[in-house]
Amino acid sequence: MAPDKAAAEALDAPETLTAIRSCVHCGICLPQCPTYRVLGEEMDSPRGRVYLMRAVAEKRLDLTDGFRRHLDLCLGCRACETACPAGVPFGSLLETSRAEIERRGRPLRERVLPALLFAVFPHPGRLRALLSVLRLYHRSGLRRLVRASGVLRGWPRVAAMERLIDNVPTPVSLPEHLPARGRSRGRVALLTGCVQRHLFADVNRDTARLLALAGWDVVVPRDQGCCGALDLHAGRPDVLRARARALAAAFPSDVDWVVTNAAGCGSAMREYGHWTRDEAVGRLAGRTRDVTELLVDAELPLAPLPLTVAYHDACHLAHGQKVRAAPRALLAKIPGLTLVPLVDSELCCGSAGVYNILEPDMAERLLEHKIRRIIESGARTVVTGNPGCLLQIASGCRRRGLDVELVHPVTLLARAVRWEGR
Ligand code: SF4
Ligand code: SF4
Repeated sequence: MAPDKAAAEALDAPETLTAIRSCVHCGICLPQCPTYRVLGEEMDSPRGRVYLMRAVAEKRLDLTDGFRRHLDLCLGCRACETACPAGVPFGSLLETSRAEIERRGRPLRERVLPALLFAVFPHPGRLRALLSVLRLYHRSGLRRLVRASGVLRGWPRVAAMERLIDNVPTPVSLPEHLPARGRSRGRVALLTGCVQRHLFADVNRDTARLLALAGWDVVVPRDQGCCGALDLHAGRPDVLRARARALAAAFPSDVDWVVTNAAGCGSAMREYGHWTRDEAVGRLAGRTRDVTELLVDAELPLAPLPLTVAYHDACHLAHGQKVRAAPRALLAKIPGLTLVPLVDSELCCGSAGVYNILEPDMAERLLEHKIRRIIESGARTVVTGNPGCLLQIASGCRRRGLDVELVHPVTLLARAVRWEGR
């Protein structure tokens, strides 16, 4: 087996220390940090967190409860990376810190819920079973009873989970191969994602159809598993490596691109090389692209869609993958569509993987801010390229009685395409 970069997983490893010490304490990142904006605490800012990491790495501080708390409150949104003039790689430093915390162990009370979430979310079969139960909960009237009783008031994390998913859609099946329409530009493979394949299967279907219409032969590997993004953010790089190897084995090696339509998955996959030197995994990482990057230059037959739309930048698309222009350019192609500015479009909505379940209070405060900006924008449709953001913002709009639809960019594009005879 190829050697892995295990050394990078210790805070006192030379390359990690160099990265930590590259922070020049300028504070430019502070106004961009969601948790600093809410709490105004230095230790809940990127600069404060890097300071804490440095103190641990230089053995001046132990992994105290306080250290864990400041790191747990971080969303991993990486807005600080975008802002930082010194190029501090905050995302990988956070993941290294979390790996260190997990290695040294947490008290039982901090382990139970994450263990339950990780026993389900990255496993498509278990997630499907859980969602079937949830569908029954929605349709049987039990949800109405539970909400009316107020029983969840004492369980904020369970309540956060309960209100996130309002509807479990009927499954949509995807063929293993969709041939290119017209002359083929090449071959791509689609990652279907864990949450995406169950809750946004229509986004996967539209992604595959649009890519085929744009001239790509699309393959959808049947036995693909989870990309490992959630494990990485929870400080489990060993699990990430195992999942990355399995994914590389499941995907054909001769495709031009591996396409993702979930920002968190794409970001983790493009950065696999930081965590492993496995060659097959490295090739997979190098070929990974967001769907909007592949569709942006396609000639598509589009009909007018008279909508007022705001675009929310999913953190792991904007800050992680640096993809900002392609989704906007794609929306601008749709005739009749008006794209209005969204203030703080790059500020995290509070979703951040399973953060909104583990830290519901901070997640709600950030969601409130996002909803206010959406109302100010005047948009009735909000577009974003990540399932977590779609669920989080839709849940906030629903609970406030707002008539705002949340959609993935490919959903709008697929609605605008003239499919007749194609
Ligand atoms: S990752 Fe996001 S929440 Fe964490 S320190 Fe950076 S800007 Fe703040
Ligand atoms: S912007 Fe970069 S260098 Fe400046 S304080 Fe923040 S992390 Fe440190």
